[in-house]
This record gives sequence, structure tokens and C-alpha cells, in this order.
Amino acid sequence: MAAHQHSNMRPDMLSVEEARTRMLAHFSPLETEERPIVEALGQTLAEDVRAPFDLPTWRNSAMDGYAVRREDVQDASPSRPRVLRVIGQVAAGQEPRQRVTPGAAIRIMTGAPIPTGATAVVPFEDTDESARQARGDSLEAIGVLRPVEAGANIRPAGEDVHAGDVALPKGQAIRPWEIAVLASLGVARVKVVRRPVVAILATGDELLSPGEPRSAAKTYDSNSYALAAAVARDGGIPRRLGIARDNMQELHTKLGEGLDSDLLLTSAGVSRGDYDMVKEALRERGEVSFWTVRMRPAKPLAFGLLDGPGGRRVPHIGLPGNPVSTMVAYEQFVRPAIRLMLGKAAQGRPRVRAVLEGTIQNVDGRRVYARVRVVRRNGAYRATPTGPQGSHIITSMAKANGLAICPEDVPLMEKGQVVDVEMLDWNEEVEL
Ligand code: AMP
Ligand code: MG
Repeated sequence: MAAHQHSNMRPDMLSVEEARTRMLAHFSPLETEERPIVEALGQTLAEDVRAPFDLPTWRNSAMDGYAVRREDVQDASPSRPRVLRVIGQVAAGQEPRQRVTPGAAIRIMTGAPIPTGATAVVPFEDTDESARQARGDSLEAIGVLRPVEAGANIRPAGEDVHAGDVALPKGQAIRPWEIAVLASLGVARVKVVRRPVVAILATGDELLSPGEPRSAAKTYDSNSYALAAAVARDGGIPRRLGIARDNMQELHTKLGEGLDSDLLLTSAGVSRGDYDMVKEALRERGEVSFWTVRMRPAKPLAFGLLDGPGGRRVPHIGLPGNPVSTMVAYEQFVRPAIRLMLGKAAQGRPRVRAVLEGTIQNVDGRRVYARVRVVRRNGAYRATPTGPQGSHIITSMAKANGLAICPEDVPLMEKGQVVDVEMLDWNEEVEL
């Protein structure tokens, strides 16, 4: 089975890595903008965020209980409670007004600042408070039932972050947890790398938009919708331009509209060999290369730098028309480009090694990205192909949660073999 070898050698075919490297050389983080913290979700920090004050800001109580001097309760026990005078109470948000003097205690709530003089907090359950309450006794005194260690149930100031330290580093992607840190530091707006605007154009005389009535020999445009959703999910701002018919005037009008973006995606019309109006129109707009990439699906691919307004050069990625090809090429080339513009690393999806539950055929020495469903069974990942693998089988993507990779030089992968899978979704298979 070496028949496929020759195509491996074809000098005009780029490997996925070569194509990606050539493309990604033209992308870098976009300018910064200031955003309200919640709206910055998914963006990356454009600068270090330093803590303007300690977190926790003051020593505070980790429990509801009594602030005491440790030495006052050293020999306390349930049979011989150590009784202290309760001289006050402090709730979260209040500043303690008294100090804890020998023989005294202050009732304290979680998060409240520790009064001076106190060296530990005794939780309610280690006192006779509930017994006193049940008896209807006043709480002017409290019995401590157990000794405590110095510092017990006290959260030191600065234990989380010290004033002046970097709480979140530049480049950090903002997740709900980073938003919590920012809010804790009193930060309402944050400087982040702005999101790329990604213009998306479907091309083809055969295309209809969903919502339009069906018509003989016509196909609904799915690519521009799938791409818009993928862009949004990866943190970009999709701008769908609709459909351009295969005529120069419409193509030029629509391409023109797309040049007001950070990246222009087109679908279809980039196959090698056949004459295509899309290619012609792109060529008139700037420098465009038409590639064949040693992958299946998504062999044809275009990359260009188009002449935008004000002399700006707008990167263009021309994706193949077949729906699965578009989606797989998006994963390999567009997603990393969007990540770079967002100030993130261009890294791909997480990979797992899975036991193959079917076969993957590689007829012509390209790298095959096979749609699979990965499940974890008895501690091992298992990958089952989702059915026919044609690049027009749209539901093969909908059923998949990963792309299994059959290398260029492997003509056949069989059931039981171990395969690398790029996970499109990650945590769905983790049982709760
Ligand atoms: P082409 O690259 O123009 O030869 O198109 C290849 C295949 O993809 C054809 O079957 C097209 O009908 C199909 N196709 C092109 N654009 C889209 C689209 N936006 N949505 C769904 N299928 C498409
Ligand atoms: Mg076409």
C-alpha cells in the first residue's frame, strides 16, 4: 500500500503546518480598548493589573464566632468552659470600636475585621452560645468549650494578593474568575485587546438563504451561518455579508463591503484548476495565493492580502465550498488567526489519544481529519467515526465532538488502533 506515496511528494501541495505558518505570519494582536469587566469576557488583558490594596484588605474572621485572646481560653474544655465577658459585636462591613482586653470577647461575623487585641476566633459551635440562648440567658458572657491556636479562623490581610503585586498578568484571557479578581480590586473597566471583526461572504449562484422558499437545483447557504457562529464562539465579531452570485459586479460590491474588517472570509470558488469568478474578483483586489493543502477534507484554500480603505491590507482566507471542508479549514486556519488577533496563543484544540472504534481510509496520502464521537469508557477514550465522511455530509460534523487525525503516510487506520483526536468540544463527556 504505497500507492499514495507519490502525492505526498507533490511539491505544490502544502502541509497543514506550512499553510498555517504562512498565514499566521500576517496576524498579530489588535489594538487595545477599555471595556466594562463583564463585557471583556473572552478577551485578553492588554496590561498587568496590579492590586491597589491588599486582598483581604484587613485581617478578618473566617467564621461566625467570638474574637478572643488565645491565652484566655488555653485551658477551656466542655466540662470547664472558660467564661469571657462579651463587650461588643462586629458584623461584616462594620469597623470594630472596642479592643479585646484580657477576659473579654467580641462577637464577630464572617468577613468582619478582627478587633485589636484578638488573636483567634472561636466558632459558635465551640462555645455555649446555643445553650445560653436555649435557656434564655443573656449573651453578656460566653463560655468557650475548647482552646484555639493563635491565628485560628483569622484570614491575614494580603493573604490572597499584596498591594502592588500583579494580580492578573498581561495576556491573561478573561474568564468569570478573572472578572471576580478585577471586581474584588474595585476595577470596573479594564484594558483589553479588542475583538476582531470578521466579515463572512458566501459565494455561488446556487445558493439560497434559509427562510427563502426552496427552488430547483438550489442549495441553502450553510457556510456563512456556521462560520458566523464559529467566529462568535471564538471571540470574534462576525459580520455576515450574505451571498454574492457568481458575477463580477456582485462579487466586487460584496468584497468591498468586507474590506472594512480585520479579516475577510469567503466560502467556495477557490478550487484549483477550474476557472472561477471568485478567484478573478479576488485577484483584482490584492495579492491572493491559491493553495492546495495536503489534507482531507479542505484541500483547496486561498490566502490573500486585499487592498482595504486607507491603504490598509486586509487578510483574506478563502475557504472551500463544501460545508465540512469549510468547517475543518476554519478549525485549522481561521480559529488560530482569530486567537492571535485576540492576543492569545495560536494553539489548537486539546488532543486526546483514543482507541478507534471503526476505520479511517486515506486514499491519496493527505492528512485525514475524520469526524468522530469520542466517549470515555472504563478510563479510556474511544473514538467512533460518525458515518460517511464525504465533505458534503453536514450531519457528520453535527454528530462529532472531535476530529481524528490519520497521518499523511498512513493509508488505513483500523479498529483497535490508537488515534490522535482534536477535540471540538471538551467537557461534554465528563460525567457529573
Ligand atoms: P465550489 O467551491 O464553488 O465548487 O463549491 C463546492 C461545493 O460546496 C458545491 O457543492 C457548493 O454548492 C457547495 N457550497 C458552496 N458554498 C456553499 C455554502 N455557502 N453553503 C453550503 N454549501 C456550499
Ligand atoms: Mg461555486
